[in-house]
Amino acid sequence: MDGYEFQKFVANLFKKLGFVNVEVGPPTADGGIDISMEQRTDISTVRFIVECKHHPEGTIGRPVVQKLHSAVVHTPVLDKGIIVTSGHFSSKAIQYAEEVGIELIDIEKLTELARKAEMLIQTKPSLSIENCFPTSKKTELVEKLFSFLQVDLNGFNKDYAKVEEIGLKLLSSYMVDYSIEATFSTSVGVIHSIHEKSSLFLTGDGGEPINPIITNPLLPMRYNISELNEDNLKEVKLLERGRFVKSYKEIKESAIETLRQIYTKTVGYYGANNVHYTKTCVPKKKHIALMDVKQVYIPVWNIIVSILKSKYLIVGTENPQKLNVFPSKLIVVKETSGIQPYPDNCMVCFKPMEDKKYLCNECGMIVCSNDIFTCKKCGKLICEKHVISKRKFLIFSDKYCPPCAKSEGII
Ligand SMILES: [Zn+2]
Ligand SMILES: [Zn+2]
Ligand SMILES: [Zn+2]
Repeated sequence: MDGYEFQKFVANLFKKLGFVNVEVGPPTADGGIDISMEQRTDISTVRFIVECKHHPEGTIGRPVVQKLHSAVVHTPVLDKGIIVTSGHFSSKAIQYAEEVGIELIDIEKLTELARKAEMLIQTKPSLSIENCFPTSKKTELVEKLFSFLQVDLNGFNKDYAKVEEIGLKLLSSYMVDYSIEATFSTSVGVIHSIHEKSSLFLTGDGGEPINPIITNPLLPMRYNISELNEDNLKEVKLLERGRFVKSYKEIKESAIETLRQIYTKTVGYYGANNVHYTKTCVPKKKHIALMDVKQVYIPVWNIIVSILKSKYLIVGTENPQKLNVFPSKLIVVKETSGIQPYPDNCMVCFKPMEDKKYLCNECGMIVCSNDIFTCKKCGKLICEKHVISKRKFLIFSDKYCPPCAKSEGII
């Protein structure tokens, strides 16, 4: 983080803490105003100027306080001055600031405020605030949903489906860009090597690794993240907005530990004596370089869709082309809600539907190939539970959907 980035970070922090009209001065203006802002209540407006000093290892002395104090007293519209530093203040500066009423914020206080505002403070890699993977507009999303269902479900027809609710959860994550370079050798030479550059995602509140099922489809878009567009959120029901509570140090430690585990591999090799050995190759801390840590929201869509007489919750992330639907084991619904997770297992026999999924055109249940039949008359797909059989000979029977069975006089 350079001095100007620090200035922007501080401005963002004050915004989050409720200050208004927060304005950041130009990067070059030394001697100019770093940040101006206001604090409003029902009865008053207090105007502040903020001086930012990015000196992580440094101590700010009395002259800086004096300079700001004289700026405040000589500017009629200004009420208060604040100095923020990523380092510390000298005792003379603290004493003088108390006398003249300038507020001082050192790195400890800044960290505390940043925690309160749920922002990450770090002085080494770049700091980005409130980034988010791209989200599409409601209409585009519904299109992606229907094309998913079209491909995933035999017998699906757009007319059978109605989108009941579109909810969005913003999963908070720390996106850690890393590279790992490691070579493992024994007396017979190199037995394993790792050369990899990618991103790891840790949860915003616990710093734990996020299931790769969720994050892997997002990896190709990791350079397309941008500032969170609050306008897009107005269109949908915001169900949850995750928090960022970990410090850079905690994230760094968790990332390195996670990466060491991910890249640990046991390899087999033959020694010079032709005996087979195995060795567990564990990357060391020095093999891993963390390039950047960003706070990123992962938008997770929670779409409730009615298909005929059934209601499903479809949960997933999106990329520019499609919806990446999560497996049902990751989907939780209230049992009493009458809504089911979009299934991976047949709803009649409960076996995994590895080959194809079929939609009962009568009830909207999703079943496997063994539990689906075609109505002899209208050609619609009907599940085991709703199919009506007309026995022919001893074992062969014709299958009908309930309306056709009725019109044929079978029932
Ligand atoms: Zn089945
Ligand atoms: Zn059915
Ligand atoms: Zn029919």
